[in-house]
Amino acid sequence: MLLESEGEAVCTHCAKHEEEDTKTSMNEKYALAGLSSVTWVVAILVELLWQNQLIVYSLSIAAILVAGRWIIPRGLRGAAKIHLDINFLMTFAAFAALIIGAPLEGAAAMYLFFIANLLEDRASAQVRNDIQGLLELAPQMITLKTSSGLVEVPVESGQMGEVFVVKPGDRIGLDGIVVSGTTSVNQSPITGESVPVSKQVGDTVYAGTINMDGSVEIEVTHLSSETVLSRIVSLVDEARSKRSPTEKLVSRISHRYTPMVVLASAAMVVVTFAFGFTLQDAVYRGLTLLVTSCPCAFVISIPVSMVSSIAGSARSGVLVKGSEYIEALSKSSVVAFDKTGTLTEGVLQVENITQANGATREEVLHIAGSLEQYSEHPISRAVTQLAEIERVTLGTVDSFQAIAGRGVTGEIGGDKVVAGNRGLMQEKGIDIPDNDTQKAGTNVYVAKNGNHVGTIRLMDSVRHTARRAIQDLSAMGIRSVMLTGDNEATAVHVAKILQVDEYHADLLPHEKVEAVESITDEGTHLFVGDGINDAPAMAASDVSVAMGVIGSDLALETADVALMEDDLEKIPILIQQAQKTMSIVKQNIAVSIGIKAAVAILAIAGLATLWLAVGVGDMGVSLLVIANALRLAMRR
Ligand code: ADP
Ligand code: MG
Repeated sequence: MLLESEGEAVCTHCAKHEEEDTKTSMNEKYALAGLSSVTWVVAILVELLWQNQLIVYSLSIAAILVAGRWIIPRGLRGAAKIHLDINFLMTFAAFAALIIGAPLEGAAAMYLFFIANLLEDRASAQVRNDIQGLLELAPQMITLKTSSGLVEVPVESGQMGEVFVVKPGDRIGLDGIVVSGTTSVNQSPITGESVPVSKQVGDTVYAGTINMDGSVEIEVTHLSSETVLSRIVSLVDEARSKRSPTEKLVSRISHRYTPMVVLASAAMVVVTFAFGFTLQDAVYRGLTLLVTSCPCAFVISIPVSMVSSIAGSARSGVLVKGSEYIEALSKSSVVAFDKTGTLTEGVLQVENITQANGATREEVLHIAGSLEQYSEHPISRAVTQLAEIERVTLGTVDSFQAIAGRGVTGEIGGDKVVAGNRGLMQEKGIDIPDNDTQKAGTNVYVAKNGNHVGTIRLMDSVRHTARRAIQDLSAMGIRSVMLTGDNEATAVHVAKILQVDEYHADLLPHEKVEAVESITDEGTHLFVGDGINDAPAMAASDVSVAMGVIGSDLALETADVALMEDDLEKIPILIQQAQKTMSIVKQNIAVSIGIKAAVAILAIAGLATLWLAVGVGDMGVSLLVIANALRLAMRR
């Protein structure tokens, strides 16, 4: 016997065909559910009050055909390909029951199976609506500013560079940059954080967020299919198709399990018959066992739990890109954090500038600022800002090079210039004083043509959420490790404030990878970074978490988990949510196996009826596990 290929579930109520879930077909299903309910109930009443077998049989057959509108054709199509799935088993059970003189039970099998199907459809439709609901946060129309005045157009037709107007209280339709006006925006639809963020000319705003107080004009920077919001939706949607190890295991087991059930049921018929029961009785028991043993309930319960959990997190600004990560998160024992921009604000302030070898302060800032304007590192922002404040003009740099975890080099008007840390200076053979390694703070050494011309000392402040996050993690028994490319003195300073369990300083990007890999031995680990200089470490970790990705296209795509905002306190919550999800998955597996085993034992003992098998063993269990799983989406 052939079974459905890996990746598809064993039963129809598990294997959903997208197009069947459209609204019209749901309505048709409801109509047929109503019709088969009436037919089936009338058949029972006739049996109880009138006992006219002809009418009972006719009504039962009608109920089977109506309820089996999709199940029977699918079962027969499968059987034709020697591909026995649950649809075939149910069809077989219903008709076999008719033949052995149990028409009402045959009808019950088909009818209740159909209803269970319908409810599962609804559950997956609800999860899908949750995801689609995110997208509906963005308005359908925007008000474009054109030469002929304001024009309402659908968001899809908004083009790059066009300007649209958003009034207070309205939602923003597309990602863009404010070109006129000031306002504050509630970004909670994307970040989960409802404290309004103030926006002025030059600031980026996102589709789906709510404009609070001012009227603003916004220049489109992303088409409606490319906004952060629509990328979140498509990533969450993709996440539904990635399966966790437990899911894969369950699906593998259930593939073996279905043929075993068929064989066991057949054996049941033969054995009971051999023990002197009537053929009718023997077949009835075999059918009961068959119906009970459908693995649907636990096959469906896992994806429903996972997707509910993913949808729930997405609403609070945390994007988990697949159920495999939920499983890994739930087992995590170590969280490694990048320092700059992750544990610290990443907004550095220049503390002081010292000059060397006769250079002026202006010259030092000119060299460093010119180089840093090409870099994206938090250091560069601080340096270029100071240059601007001090009205130092910046030059163009030829053959610019950013050396990850070290600094930047290039040429300005023929002079070879370098700005970076001690390691970079040593590599370039540039002499620098070594009396400044005791104080906390990041030193950027600046050199021209092989000579040290000055040092810029910067300080970063620790993120206020970091302390709490690390405390919460430690209360959960999870260790935190800080990895940094910055110097030892700064690392000690930050490690003390935050009370991390362990830190490693002076790491180059590839050494961060080694540090992350050495953690692997201790169990599942997370790496939390801001995506700057830490992409390799992210790739090497079991689960990578990128922070503040609302503004960073790359981090949103590459990390396994994306925090839309820089809120580190989401990390312990994320792990707790993953643990809760996995415990629900395990509950569901245990409950469905338990109930099914009990009904199966009753069936073997001849004590279970087909009613019990379908009503409790199949539909009852399915409902129970789905209801349990949906609790995850309802949170928050
Ligand atoms: P962290 O691990 O703290 O995030 P990085 O790996 O990003 O730090 O950088 C490590 C060190 O390399 C920095 O502390 C700094 O000394 C130096 N560095 C990196 N990028 C630059 C840059 N653009 N300009 C100057 N120095 C830099
Ligand atoms: Mg960094």
